[in-house]
Amino acid sequence: LISKLPRVGTTIFTRMSGLAQAHNALNLSQGFPDFSPPEGLAQALGEHAMRGHNQYAPMAGLPRLREAIAGQLALHRNVAVDADTEITVVPGATESIFCAITAVVTPGDEVIVLDPVYDSYEPAVELAGGRTVHVPLRAGSFDIDWVKVEKAITKRTKLFMLNSPHNPCGSAVSAKDLDILGELAQKHGFLVCSDEVYEHLVYDGRKHCSVLQHPVLRSRSFAHFSFGKTLSVTGWKTGYCVAPPELTRELRKVHQYVAFVAVTPVQHALADFLETQPDYPSSLAGDYQRRRDLFITALSGSRFSWTPAAGSYFQLLDYSDISDEADTELSERWTRELGVASIPVSVFYETPPEQRVLRFCFAKSDEVLLEAAERLCAI
Ligand code: PMP
Ligand code: GLN
Repeated sequence: LISKLPRVGTTIFTRMSGLAQAHNALNLSQGFPDFSPPEGLAQALGEHAMRGHNQYAPMAGLPRLREAIAGQLALHRNVAVDADTEITVVPGATESIFCAITAVVTPGDEVIVLDPVYDSYEPAVELAGGRTVHVPLRAGSFDIDWVKVEKAITKRTKLFMLNSPHNPCGSAVSAKDLDILGELAQKHGFLVCSDEVYEHLVYDGRKHCSVLQHPVLRSRSFAHFSFGKTLSVTGWKTGYCVAPPELTRELRKVHQYVAFVAVTPVQHALADFLETQPDYPSSLAGDYQRRRDLFITALSGSRFSWTPAAGSYFQLLDYSDISDEADTELSERWTRELGVASIPVSVFYETPPEQRVLRFCFAKSDEVLLEAAERLCAI
């Protein structure tokens, strides 16, 4: 058997969560909340299943959910999106990102990714016969170095992968970044795949900058969103992709044969929620900022250093004043010995730089965050 993905093993998230479980550690590794979804959501799911909403939904998603999503985009982003031709409900952003890449990348195409890069993009590009071209984010700030990006563009560049707020770094792009990307995309004729699953988690008064709000990028992008993040139901694996009609048509050609549909009673429950509590996502930034601040304030006596995450629910901690150990080894050792699991950042690079950084998920209850910080302070 010739492997199509010879360098791929089990994801770091599965491995670290497994290790956390085996050692009964506080799991700040894999990104998922340890608290309940908003009131009423789980009950609605049960009720819809009981009421008989158990067969296939329309391929592009329930019309009422797509209308509710269009309402969300108007309310939170001030953009007009056609629910029929531009929104596709999918079983998770992972699936729609895979479908978008598969729909547009042909053998020999190049796809620009920014390192550290979320782990699902590269295998999708490789399975499509494309090649990823890795451009590192600026060390320390994790901003995009647009000079380096421009140098990486060739005639074969088909797609640019953007992720903001960023996993694992917690950085976020500015409107100026999108202007530069828009100019480059237009000049060189490439498309953009924009992973915005943490769109509502931006802190300290920042505003999320979406490709949907940028006129040039709006016409050349797939934008991906996840209810897993927005409504704290990662296990429901439901999200959506917004793209202009011609890109949506291509995405759906793949989606209809990868998953065909997203789960029906889940879509009904999400529609109920968004129809009745359209403002709910606005409460997320304050809630998660409080959790971030609780965690980093509790670490203030430690020898870690950090820049507070601008977005996402991940906080990077630099441990270079504590240890010279590689992050892959240290994250495992601290899971076993300290009972705190984290994610090593080097695994998301083609060529890891000289840095000593671990990622901690702060989508956790106050007790877990405080206990984890106390153990980390004791090092
Ligand atoms: N992109 C990023 C950056 C993520 O962190 C995640 C969360 N796991 C996803 C995509 C996938 O989201 P979903 O669970 O909806 O597939
Ligand atoms: N995106 C989540 C994280 O970064 C994990 C999702 C997964 O396990 N694939 O932790």
